[in-house]
Amino acid sequence: MERHKPAALIIGAGIAGIQAALDIADAGYPVYLVEREPSVGGRMSQLDKTFPTLDCSSCILTPKMVDVGRHPNIELMTYCEAVSVEKEGDTFRVQVRKKPRYVDVDKCTGCGECAAACRMKGRVISDFDEGIAKRSAIYVPFPQAVPLKFTIDPNSCLMLTRGKCGKGPLCQEACTADAIDFEQQEKFVDLDVAAIIVATGYDLIDPRTKPEFAYGIYPEVMTGIEFERLSSASGPTMGDITIDGKKPKDVVFIKCVGSRDSHTGVPYCSRFCCMYTAKHAHLVRDKVPDANITVFYMDVRAFGKGYEEFYDRVKQEQVMYRRGEPSEIYRRNGRVVVLAEDTLLGQPIEVEADMVVLATAAVPRADAAETAALVGLEMSPDGFFQEAHPKLRPVDTEVDGVFMAGCCQGPKDIPDTVAQAKAAASSALGVLARREKQLEQMDREDGIEDKSND
Ligand SMILES: Cc1cc2nc3c(=O)[nH]c(=O)nc-3n(C[C@H](O)[C@H](O)[C@H](O)COP(=O)(O)OP(=O)(O)OC[C@H]3O[C@@H](n4cnc5c(N)ncnc54)[C@H](O)[C@@H]3O)c2cc1C
Ligand code: SF4
Ligand code: SF4
Repeated sequence: MERHKPAALIIGAGIAGIQAALDIADAGYPVYLVEREPSVGGRMSQLDKTFPTLDCSSCILTPKMVDVGRHPNIELMTYCEAVSVEKEGDTFRVQVRKKPRYVDVDKCTGCGECAAACRMKGRVISDFDEGIAKRSAIYVPFPQAVPLKFTIDPNSCLMLTRGKCGKGPLCQEACTADAIDFEQQEKFVDLDVAAIIVATGYDLIDPRTKPEFAYGIYPEVMTGIEFERLSSASGPTMGDITIDGKKPKDVVFIKCVGSRDSHTGVPYCSRFCCMYTAKHAHLVRDKVPDANITVFYMDVRAFGKGYEEFYDRVKQEQVMYRRGEPSEIYRRNGRVVVLAEDTLLGQPIEVEADMVVLATAAVPRADAAETAALVGLEMSPDGFFQEAHPKLRPVDTEVDGVFMAGCCQGPKDIPDTVAQAKAAASSALGVLARREKQLEQMDREDGIEDKSND
Protein backbone atom coordinates (compact mmCIF):
# COMPACT_ATOMS: atom_id res chain seq x y z
CA MET A 1 0.00 0.00 0.00
CA GLU A 2 1.34 3.41 -0.93
CA ARG A 3 1.06 6.44 1.31
CA HIS A 4 -0.87 9.39 -0.13
CA LYS A 5 -0.90 12.96 1.08
CA PRO A 6 -4.48 13.67 2.18
CA ALA A 7 -6.27 16.14 -0.07
CA ALA A 8 -8.87 18.87 0.39
CA LEU A 9 -11.87 19.63 -1.77
CA ILE A 10 -13.06 23.21 -2.16
CA ILE A 11 -16.49 23.81 -3.64
CA GLY A 12 -16.70 27.23 -5.30
CA ALA A 13 -13.85 29.31 -6.71
CA GLY A 14 -14.80 32.89 -5.90
CA ILE A 15 -12.28 34.87 -3.85
CA ALA A 16 -13.09 32.69 -0.79
CA GLY A 17 -12.39 29.38 -2.55
CA ILE A 18 -9.34 30.76 -4.36
CA GLN A 19 -7.76 32.07 -1.15
CA ALA A 20 -8.44 28.87 0.80
CA ALA A 21 -7.03 26.76 -2.06
CA LEU A 22 -3.83 28.80 -2.22
CA ASP A 23 -3.26 28.61 1.54
CA ILE A 24 -3.74 24.82 1.65
CA ALA A 25 -1.70 24.21 -1.49
CA ASP A 26 1.13 26.45 -0.26
CA ALA A 27 1.28 24.33 2.91
CA GLY A 28 2.03 21.33 0.70
CA TYR A 29 -1.33 19.52 0.51
CA PRO A 30 -3.21 18.68 -2.67
CA VAL A 31 -6.41 20.62 -3.40
CA TYR A 32 -9.26 19.94 -5.79
CA LEU A 33 -10.88 23.29 -6.54
CA VAL A 34 -14.32 22.68 -8.06
CA GLU A 35 -16.09 25.57 -9.81
CA ARG A 36 -19.35 25.26 -11.69
CA GLU A 37 -18.68 28.14 -14.11
CA PRO A 38 -16.16 27.94 -16.97
CA SER A 39 -13.76 30.25 -15.06
CA VAL A 40 -12.74 30.85 -11.47
CA GLY A 41 -13.26 34.34 -9.97
CA GLY A 42 -16.86 34.53 -8.74
CA ARG A 43 -18.51 37.91 -8.21
CA MET A 44 -15.26 39.71 -7.54
CA SER A 45 -14.26 39.22 -11.16
CA GLN A 46 -17.31 41.32 -12.17
CA LEU A 47 -16.41 44.29 -9.98
CA ASP A 48 -14.79 47.52 -11.13
CA LYS A 49 -13.01 49.13 -8.19
CA THR A 50 -13.28 47.92 -4.60
CA PHE A 51 -14.10 49.96 -1.51
CA PRO A 52 -12.67 51.53 0.55
CA THR A 53 -9.24 51.65 -1.11
CA LEU A 54 -10.56 51.77 -4.70
CA ASP A 55 -8.11 49.13 -5.91
CA CYS A 56 -9.06 47.78 -9.29
CA SER A 57 -10.76 44.46 -8.55
CA SER A 58 -9.24 42.49 -11.40
CA CYS A 59 -5.75 43.86 -10.63
CA ILE A 60 -5.85 42.22 -7.20
CA LEU A 61 -7.86 39.15 -8.19
CA THR A 62 -6.26 38.13 -11.50
CA PRO A 63 -2.83 37.27 -10.02
CA LYS A 64 -4.54 34.95 -7.52
CA MET A 65 -6.60 33.37 -10.31
CA VAL A 66 -3.42 32.77 -12.29
CA ASP A 67 -1.76 31.28 -9.19
CA VAL A 68 -4.53 28.73 -8.63
CA GLY A 69 -4.38 27.86 -12.33
CA ARG A 70 -0.64 27.15 -12.15
CA HIS A 71 -0.14 25.82 -8.64
CA PRO A 72 1.37 22.32 -8.71
CA ASN A 73 -0.75 21.27 -5.70
CA ILE A 74 -4.06 22.53 -7.10
CA GLU A 75 -6.18 20.60 -9.54
CA LEU A 76 -8.55 23.12 -11.01
CA MET A 77 -11.88 21.55 -11.93
CA THR A 78 -13.86 24.29 -13.67
CA TYR A 79 -17.24 23.71 -15.31
CA CYS A 80 -17.65 20.92 -12.75
CA GLU A 81 -19.96 20.18 -9.84
CA ALA A 82 -19.77 17.84 -6.86
CA VAL A 83 -22.78 15.53 -7.18
CA SER A 84 -22.33 13.15 -4.28
CA VAL A 85 -20.41 13.16 -1.01
CA GLU A 86 -20.20 10.14 1.28
CA LYS A 87 -18.23 9.93 4.47
CA GLU A 88 -16.39 6.68 5.14
CA GLY A 89 -14.45 6.91 8.40
CA ASP A 90 -12.19 9.95 8.06
CA THR A 91 -12.46 10.05 4.28
CA PHE A 92 -15.01 11.80 2.09
CA ARG A 93 -15.75 9.97 -1.18
CA VAL A 94 -16.79 12.66 -3.62
CA GLN A 95 -18.11 12.30 -7.12
CA VAL A 96 -17.60 15.29 -9.42
CA ARG A 97 -19.49 15.80 -12.67
CA LYS A 98 -17.45 17.35 -15.47
CA LYS A 99 -19.85 19.09 -17.82
CA PRO A 100 -18.97 18.89 -21.51
CA ARG A 101 -17.41 22.11 -22.85
CA TYR A 102 -17.55 20.69 -26.38
CA VAL A 103 -14.00 22.00 -26.61
CA ASP A 104 -10.93 19.87 -25.98
CA VAL A 105 -9.13 21.92 -23.32
CA ASP A 106 -5.80 20.24 -24.10
CA LYS A 107 -5.99 21.49 -27.68
CA CYS A 108 -7.69 24.89 -27.17
CA THR A 109 -5.17 27.73 -27.28
CA GLY A 110 -7.67 30.41 -26.24
CA CYS A 111 -7.14 32.28 -29.53
CA GLY A 112 -10.85 33.20 -29.83
CA GLU A 113 -11.07 32.60 -33.60
CA CYS A 114 -14.09 30.36 -32.99
CA ALA A 115 -16.02 33.07 -31.14
CA ALA A 116 -15.23 35.61 -33.86
CA ALA A 117 -16.60 33.22 -36.49
CA CYS A 118 -19.60 31.88 -34.53
CA ARG A 119 -23.00 32.27 -36.26
CA MET A 120 -24.44 33.43 -32.93
CA LYS A 121 -21.82 36.17 -32.50
CA GLY A 122 -23.32 39.18 -30.71
CA ARG A 123 -26.64 37.39 -30.19
CA VAL A 124 -26.26 35.65 -26.82
CA ILE A 125 -26.79 37.60 -23.60
CA SER A 126 -23.61 37.69 -21.52
CA ASP A 127 -24.40 36.74 -17.92
CA PHE A 128 -20.97 37.95 -16.89
CA ASP A 129 -21.78 41.42 -18.26
CA GLU A 130 -25.23 41.23 -16.65
CA GLY A 131 -27.00 41.46 -20.00
CA ILE A 132 -25.30 44.74 -20.98
CA ALA A 133 -23.26 42.99 -23.68
CA LYS A 134 -23.81 40.06 -25.99
CA ARG A 135 -21.41 37.27 -26.85
CA SER A 136 -21.12 34.25 -29.13
CA ALA A 137 -22.39 30.74 -28.37
CA ILE A 138 -18.76 29.69 -27.95
CA TYR A 139 -17.15 31.93 -25.38
CA VAL A 140 -14.97 32.70 -22.41
CA PRO A 141 -16.88 34.70 -19.79
CA PHE A 142 -14.20 37.44 -19.68
CA PRO A 143 -10.75 37.93 -21.21
CA GLN A 144 -8.81 37.21 -17.97
CA ALA A 145 -10.67 33.89 -17.45
CA VAL A 146 -8.74 31.06 -15.81
CA PRO A 147 -8.47 28.67 -17.52
CA LEU A 148 -8.50 30.58 -20.80
CA LYS A 149 -10.34 27.79 -22.57
CA PHE A 150 -13.46 28.29 -24.63
CA THR A 151 -16.81 26.65 -23.84
CA ILE A 152 -19.84 26.10 -26.05
CA ASP A 153 -23.03 27.21 -24.35
CA PRO A 154 -25.44 24.32 -24.94
CA ASN A 155 -28.48 26.59 -24.66
CA SER A 156 -27.55 28.89 -27.50
CA CYS A 157 -25.31 26.95 -29.88
CA LEU A 158 -27.23 26.12 -33.08
CA MET A 159 -25.50 22.74 -33.42
CA LEU A 160 -26.50 21.73 -29.90
CA THR A 161 -30.00 23.19 -29.88
CA ARG A 162 -31.04 22.41 -33.48
CA GLY A 163 -28.54 19.78 -34.58
CA LYS A 164 -27.40 22.02 -37.44
CA CYS A 165 -25.43 25.25 -37.81
CA GLY A 166 -25.87 26.49 -41.38
CA LYS A 167 -23.93 24.41 -43.89
CA GLY A 168 -21.41 23.56 -41.20
CA PRO A 169 -20.25 24.98 -37.90
CA LEU A 170 -18.18 28.11 -38.56
CA CYS A 171 -16.46 27.71 -35.20
CA GLN A 172 -15.11 24.33 -36.25
CA GLU A 173 -13.91 25.73 -39.58
CA ALA A 174 -12.14 28.59 -37.78
CA CYS A 175 -10.41 26.42 -35.18
CA THR A 176 -7.03 25.46 -36.60
CA ALA A 177 -6.26 23.53 -33.38
CA ASP A 178 -9.12 21.13 -34.13
CA ALA A 179 -10.32 21.62 -30.55
CA ILE A 180 -14.08 21.64 -31.07
CA ASP A 181 -15.73 18.34 -30.28
CA PHE A 182 -19.51 18.08 -30.43
CA GLU A 183 -19.31 14.43 -29.33
CA GLN A 184 -18.02 15.30 -25.87
CA GLN A 185 -20.11 13.81 -23.05
CA GLU A 186 -20.26 14.58 -19.35
CA LYS A 187 -17.79 12.61 -17.24
CA PHE A 188 -17.74 11.59 -13.60
CA VAL A 189 -14.59 11.63 -11.49
CA ASP A 190 -14.23 10.04 -8.02
CA LEU A 191 -12.10 11.77 -5.41
CA ASP A 192 -11.08 10.85 -1.87
CA VAL A 193 -10.51 13.83 0.38
CA ALA A 194 -9.97 14.38 4.08
CA ALA A 195 -11.40 17.91 4.33
CA ILE A 196 -13.98 19.98 2.47
CA ILE A 197 -14.43 23.75 2.33
CA VAL A 198 -17.73 25.03 1.03
CA ALA A 199 -17.32 28.48 -0.60
CA THR A 200 -20.33 28.75 -2.90
CA GLY A 201 -21.01 32.47 -2.36
CA TYR A 202 -24.30 34.30 -2.81
CA ASP A 203 -26.95 35.35 -5.28
CA LEU A 204 -28.64 38.73 -5.65
CA ILE A 205 -32.37 39.14 -5.23
CA ASP A 206 -34.40 39.65 -8.41
CA PRO A 207 -35.33 43.36 -8.25
CA ARG A 208 -38.69 42.51 -9.83
CA THR A 209 -39.72 41.33 -6.34
CA LYS A 210 -39.99 45.08 -5.66
CA PRO A 211 -42.24 46.02 -8.61
CA GLU A 212 -42.60 49.60 -7.37
CA PHE A 213 -39.04 50.24 -8.63
CA ALA A 214 -40.01 49.33 -12.20
CA TYR A 215 -36.85 47.33 -12.89
CA GLY A 216 -37.14 45.68 -16.29
CA ILE A 217 -39.70 48.29 -17.35
CA TYR A 218 -37.56 51.44 -17.49
CA PRO A 219 -34.08 50.94 -18.94
CA GLU A 220 -32.83 53.76 -16.69
CA VAL A 221 -33.30 51.48 -13.66
CA MET A 222 -30.42 49.04 -13.11
CA THR A 223 -28.86 47.01 -10.31
CA GLY A 224 -25.58 47.64 -8.51
CA ILE A 225 -23.90 44.69 -10.19
CA GLU A 226 -24.98 46.00 -13.62
CA PHE A 227 -23.46 49.35 -12.64
CA GLU A 228 -20.18 47.53 -11.85
CA ARG A 229 -20.02 46.18 -15.41
CA LEU A 230 -20.92 49.60 -16.83
CA SER A 231 -18.22 51.31 -14.82
CA SER A 232 -15.52 48.69 -15.39
CA ALA A 233 -12.71 49.71 -17.75
CA SER A 234 -12.78 46.17 -19.15
CA GLY A 235 -16.59 46.16 -19.39
CA PRO A 236 -18.87 46.61 -22.40
CA THR A 237 -18.64 50.44 -22.40
CA MET A 238 -14.91 50.49 -21.50
CA GLY A 239 -15.86 52.14 -18.23
CA ASP A 240 -18.01 54.92 -19.67
CA ILE A 241 -20.99 55.48 -17.39
CA THR A 242 -23.63 56.04 -20.03
CA ILE A 243 -27.26 55.20 -20.48
CA ASP A 244 -28.58 54.88 -23.98
CA GLY A 245 -25.24 56.30 -25.15
CA LYS A 246 -25.57 59.49 -23.04
CA LYS A 247 -23.89 60.51 -19.81
CA PRO A 248 -26.51 60.74 -17.03
CA LYS A 249 -27.00 64.15 -15.43
CA ASP A 250 -29.16 63.09 -12.51
CA VAL A 251 -28.27 59.83 -10.80
CA VAL A 252 -30.19 58.26 -7.92
CA PHE A 253 -29.01 55.37 -5.78
CA ILE A 254 -31.46 53.39 -3.67
CA LYS A 255 -30.03 51.27 -0.88
CA CYS A 256 -31.51 48.27 0.93
CA VAL A 257 -33.57 47.13 -2.08
CA GLY A 258 -35.06 43.95 -0.69
CA SER A 259 -32.79 43.89 2.39
CA ARG A 260 -34.19 44.48 5.88
CA ASP A 261 -37.60 44.02 4.35
CA SER A 262 -40.28 41.70 5.70
CA HIS A 263 -42.08 41.72 2.32
CA THR A 264 -39.18 40.10 0.49
CA GLY A 265 -38.37 37.62 3.26
CA VAL A 266 -34.91 39.18 3.68
CA PRO A 267 -34.91 40.55 7.24
CA TYR A 268 -31.13 40.89 7.46
CA CYS A 269 -28.69 43.57 6.29
CA SER A 270 -26.73 42.68 3.14
CA ARG A 271 -23.68 44.32 4.72
CA PHE A 272 -21.79 45.45 1.62
CA CYS A 273 -24.39 47.65 -0.17
CA CYS A 274 -23.87 50.76 2.00
CA MET A 275 -20.23 50.76 1.05
CA TYR A 276 -20.56 49.80 -2.60
CA THR A 277 -23.22 52.50 -3.04
CA ALA A 278 -20.77 55.06 -1.62
CA LYS A 279 -18.19 53.66 -4.05
CA HIS A 280 -20.66 53.93 -6.96
CA ALA A 281 -21.49 57.53 -6.04
CA HIS A 282 -17.76 58.31 -6.01
CA LEU A 283 -17.29 56.66 -9.43
CA VAL A 284 -20.11 58.74 -10.91
CA ARG A 285 -18.60 61.91 -9.45
CA ASP A 286 -15.22 60.91 -10.90
CA LYS A 287 -16.49 60.13 -14.40
CA VAL A 288 -19.41 62.57 -14.67
CA PRO A 289 -18.17 65.54 -12.61
CA ASP A 290 -21.27 67.70 -13.07
CA ALA A 291 -23.83 64.98 -12.22
CA ASN A 292 -26.40 65.52 -9.48
CA ILE A 293 -26.11 62.48 -7.23
CA THR A 294 -28.69 61.46 -4.63
CA VAL A 295 -28.47 58.44 -2.34
CA PHE A 296 -31.61 57.27 -0.55
CA TYR A 297 -30.82 55.39 2.63
CA MET A 298 -32.41 53.93 5.77
CA ASP A 299 -29.11 53.94 7.70
CA VAL A 300 -25.48 54.08 6.67
CA ARG A 301 -23.51 51.14 8.06
CA ALA A 302 -19.84 51.93 7.52
CA PHE A 303 -18.44 49.49 10.04
CA GLY A 304 -15.13 48.30 8.55
CA LYS A 305 -11.62 49.68 8.71
CA GLY A 306 -11.43 52.88 6.70
CA TYR A 307 -15.14 52.69 5.81
CA GLU A 308 -16.47 55.67 7.79
CA GLU A 309 -13.62 57.77 6.38
CA PHE A 310 -14.52 56.67 2.86
CA TYR A 311 -18.20 57.51 3.43
CA ASP A 312 -17.22 60.97 4.76
CA ARG A 313 -15.05 61.55 1.71
CA VAL A 314 -17.92 60.65 -0.64
CA LYS A 315 -20.33 62.98 1.16
CA GLN A 316 -17.82 65.78 0.68
CA GLU A 317 -17.88 65.10 -3.06
CA GLN A 318 -21.30 66.76 -3.23
CA VAL A 319 -23.26 63.55 -3.00
CA MET A 320 -26.66 64.23 -1.45
CA TYR A 321 -27.53 61.57 1.14
CA ARG A 322 -31.29 61.70 1.82
CA ARG A 323 -32.79 59.61 4.58
CA GLY A 324 -35.91 57.89 3.32
CA GLU A 325 -37.21 54.88 1.51
CA PRO A 326 -38.45 55.50 -2.02
CA SER A 327 -41.93 54.14 -2.52
CA GLU A 328 -42.31 54.32 -6.29
CA ILE A 329 -40.58 55.02 -9.60
CA TYR A 330 -42.65 56.30 -12.51
CA ARG A 331 -42.22 58.14 -15.78
CA ARG A 332 -43.33 61.75 -16.26
CA ASN A 333 -42.70 63.87 -19.34
CA GLY A 334 -40.25 61.27 -20.63
CA ARG A 335 -38.16 61.23 -17.44
CA VAL A 336 -37.98 58.73 -14.63
CA VAL A 337 -39.10 60.11 -11.25
CA VAL A 338 -38.26 58.65 -7.84
CA LEU A 339 -40.88 59.33 -5.19
CA ALA A 340 -39.76 59.11 -1.57
CA GLU A 341 -40.52 60.34 1.90
CA ASP A 342 -37.58 62.35 3.26
CA THR A 343 -37.84 61.22 6.87
CA LEU A 344 -35.54 63.94 8.19
CA LEU A 345 -37.60 66.73 6.58
CA GLY A 346 -40.82 64.81 7.17
CA GLN A 347 -42.10 65.48 3.66
CA PRO A 348 -42.52 63.63 0.37
CA ILE A 349 -40.06 64.48 -2.40
CA GLU A 350 -39.68 63.66 -6.06
CA VAL A 351 -36.28 63.36 -7.72
CA GLU A 352 -35.99 63.17 -11.51
CA ALA A 353 -33.30 60.82 -12.74
CA ASP A 354 -31.50 59.67 -15.87
CA MET A 355 -30.16 56.64 -14.04
CA VAL A 356 -31.40 54.81 -10.94
CA VAL A 357 -29.17 52.18 -9.32
CA LEU A 358 -30.74 49.63 -6.97
CA ALA A 359 -28.55 48.09 -4.26
CA THR A 360 -30.24 44.71 -4.32
CA ALA A 361 -30.18 42.28 -1.39
CA ALA A 362 -27.61 39.50 -1.21
CA VAL A 363 -29.44 36.20 -0.84
CA PRO A 364 -28.44 32.55 -0.47
CA ARG A 365 -27.65 30.66 -3.68
CA ALA A 366 -30.82 29.34 -5.30
CA ASP A 367 -29.51 25.79 -4.79
CA ALA A 368 -28.16 26.34 -1.26
CA ALA A 369 -30.52 23.68 0.16
CA GLU A 370 -29.17 21.09 -2.30
CA THR A 371 -25.58 21.96 -1.44
CA ALA A 372 -26.43 21.72 2.27
CA ALA A 373 -27.99 18.28 1.74
CA LEU A 374 -25.03 17.14 -0.37
CA VAL A 375 -22.45 17.92 2.30
CA GLY A 376 -24.68 17.56 5.37
CA LEU A 377 -24.74 21.22 6.41
CA GLU A 378 -27.29 22.95 8.59
CA MET A 379 -28.92 26.11 7.28
CA SER A 380 -29.69 29.15 9.41
CA PRO A 381 -33.18 30.72 9.25
CA ASP A 382 -31.92 33.26 6.67
CA GLY A 383 -31.09 30.41 4.25
CA PHE A 384 -27.28 30.76 4.47
CA PHE A 385 -25.14 27.92 5.88
CA GLN A 386 -25.00 27.64 9.64
CA GLU A 387 -21.66 27.79 11.36
CA ALA A 388 -21.07 25.47 14.36
CA HIS A 389 -20.84 28.47 16.71
CA PRO A 390 -20.98 32.12 15.64
CA LYS A 391 -18.18 33.23 17.95
CA LEU A 392 -16.12 30.21 18.86
CA ARG A 393 -16.31 28.09 15.69
CA PRO A 394 -17.22 30.56 12.93
CA VAL A 395 -15.88 28.51 10.00
CA ASP A 396 -16.68 25.01 11.30
CA THR A 397 -19.84 23.11 10.44
CA GLU A 398 -21.55 20.32 12.35
CA VAL A 399 -19.81 17.82 10.06
CA ASP A 400 -16.26 17.01 11.20
CA GLY A 401 -13.84 17.90 8.42
CA VAL A 402 -16.23 20.29 6.61
CA PHE A 403 -15.66 24.03 6.82
CA MET A 404 -17.07 27.07 5.09
CA ALA A 405 -15.89 30.46 3.95
CA GLY A 406 -17.22 33.61 2.38
CA CYS A 407 -20.74 34.67 1.51
CA CYS A 408 -22.24 31.17 1.62
CA GLN A 409 -22.30 31.70 5.41
CA GLY A 410 -23.83 35.19 5.11
CA PRO A 411 -23.18 38.40 3.17
CA LYS A 412 -19.74 39.87 3.78
CA ASP A 413 -17.26 42.12 2.01
CA ILE A 414 -13.98 40.98 0.46
CA PRO A 415 -11.73 41.64 3.51
CA ASP A 416 -14.02 39.53 5.74
CA THR A 417 -14.35 36.88 3.03
CA VAL A 418 -10.58 36.55 2.68
CA ALA A 419 -10.13 36.46 6.47
CA GLN A 420 -12.72 33.70 6.74
CA ALA A 421 -11.14 31.78 3.84
CA LYS A 422 -7.79 31.88 5.60
CA ALA A 423 -9.43 30.66 8.82
CA ALA A 424 -11.18 27.80 6.97
CA ALA A 425 -7.90 26.85 5.26
CA SER A 426 -6.09 26.80 8.58
CA SER A 427 -8.81 24.60 10.14
CA ALA A 428 -8.71 22.26 7.14
CA LEU A 429 -4.91 22.11 7.39
CA GLY A 430 -5.28 20.85 10.96
CA VAL A 431 -7.44 17.98 9.69
CA LEU A 432 -5.06 17.22 6.81
CA ALA A 433 -2.01 17.20 9.09
CA ARG A 434 -3.74 14.84 11.55
CA ARG A 435 -4.79 12.55 8.71
CA GLU A 436 -1.27 12.56 7.30
CA LYS A 437 0.09 11.48 10.68
CA GLN A 438 -2.47 8.64 10.77
CA LEU A 439 -1.45 7.51 7.29
CA GLU A 440 2.23 7.63 8.26
CA GLN A 441 1.45 5.54 11.32
CA MET A 442 -0.48 3.03 9.17
CA ASP A 443 2.44 2.87 6.74
CA ARG A 444 4.86 2.27 9.61
CA GLU A 445 2.65 -0.54 10.86
CA ASP A 446 2.60 -1.98 7.33
CA GLY A 447 6.41 -1.64 7.17
CA ILE A 448 6.40 0.97 4.38
CA GLU A 449 9.20 3.54 4.54
CA ASP A 450 8.54 7.23 4.06
CA LYS A 451 10.53 8.17 0.95
CA SER A 452 8.82 11.48 0.39
CA ASN A 453 11.89 13.49 1.42
CA ASP A 454 14.42 11.39 -0.51
C1 LIG B 1 -22.54 45.30 -6.70
C2 LIG B 1 -21.54 44.75 -5.72
C3 LIG B 1 -20.36 45.45 -5.47
C4 LIG B 1 -19.45 44.96 -4.51
N1 LIG B 1 -18.33 45.70 -4.27
C5 LIG B 1 -17.49 45.30 -3.29
C6 LIG B 1 -16.33 46.10 -2.98
O1 LIG B 1 -16.07 47.13 -3.60
N2 LIG B 1 -15.52 45.68 -1.94
C7 LIG B 1 -15.80 44.57 -1.19
O2 LIG B 1 -15.08 44.27 -0.24
N3 LIG B 1 -16.88 43.77 -1.51
C8 LIG B 1 -17.71 44.11 -2.54
N4 LIG B 1 -18.78 43.30 -2.86
C9 LIG B 1 -18.94 42.00 -2.14
C10 LIG B 1 -18.16 40.85 -2.87
O3 LIG B 1 -18.81 40.57 -4.08
C11 LIG B 1 -18.13 39.60 -1.98
O4 LIG B 1 -17.51 39.92 -0.75
C12 LIG B 1 -17.32 38.45 -2.59
O5 LIG B 1 -17.64 38.26 -3.94
C13 LIG B 1 -17.59 37.15 -1.82
O6 LIG B 1 -16.86 36.10 -2.40
P1 LIG B 1 -17.28 34.56 -2.27
O7 LIG B 1 -16.13 33.78 -2.81
O8 LIG B 1 -17.76 34.27 -0.91
O9 LIG B 1 -18.56 34.39 -3.22
P2 LIG B 1 -18.76 34.48 -4.81
O10 LIG B 1 -18.04 35.64 -5.37
O11 LIG B 1 -20.25 34.42 -5.00
O12 LIG B 1 -18.09 33.14 -5.38
C14 LIG B 1 -18.65 31.87 -5.20
C15 LIG B 1 -18.23 30.95 -6.32
O13 LIG B 1 -18.77 29.64 -6.10
C16 LIG B 1 -19.28 29.12 -7.32
N5 LIG B 1 -20.32 28.13 -6.99
C17 LIG B 1 -21.53 28.36 -6.44
N6 LIG B 1 -22.17 27.19 -6.22
C18 LIG B 1 -21.35 26.21 -6.65
C19 LIG B 1 -21.45 24.78 -6.67
N7 LIG B 1 -22.52 24.15 -6.20
N8 LIG B 1 -20.41 24.07 -7.19
C20 LIG B 1 -19.31 24.71 -7.66
N9 LIG B 1 -19.16 26.06 -7.67
C21 LIG B 1 -20.17 26.80 -7.14
C22 LIG B 1 -19.80 30.33 -8.04
O14 LIG B 1 -19.92 30.09 -9.43
C23 LIG B 1 -18.73 31.38 -7.70
O15 LIG B 1 -17.66 31.34 -8.61
C24 LIG B 1 -19.71 43.75 -3.81
C25 LIG B 1 -20.89 43.05 -4.09
C26 LIG B 1 -21.80 43.53 -5.02
C27 LIG B 1 -23.09 42.79 -5.28
S1 SF4 C 1 -10.56 28.59 -32.23
FE1 SF4 C 1 -10.14 26.60 -31.28
S2 SF4 C 1 -8.19 26.93 -30.21
FE2 SF4 C 1 -9.00 28.96 -30.68
S3 SF4 C 1 -10.19 29.47 -28.82
FE3 SF4 C 1 -11.63 28.50 -30.25
S4 SF4 C 1 -11.66 26.35 -29.63
FE4 SF4 C 1 -9.84 27.27 -28.73
S1 SF4 D 1 -21.84 25.40 -34.00
FE1 SF4 D 1 -22.53 27.36 -34.86
S2 SF4 D 1 -23.66 28.38 -33.17
FE2 SF4 D 1 -22.51 26.67 -32.27
S3 SF4 D 1 -20.64 27.66 -31.54
FE3 SF4 D 1 -20.20 26.85 -33.61
S4 SF4 D 1 -20.66 28.56 -35.05
FE4 SF4 D 1 -21.55 29.07 -33.03
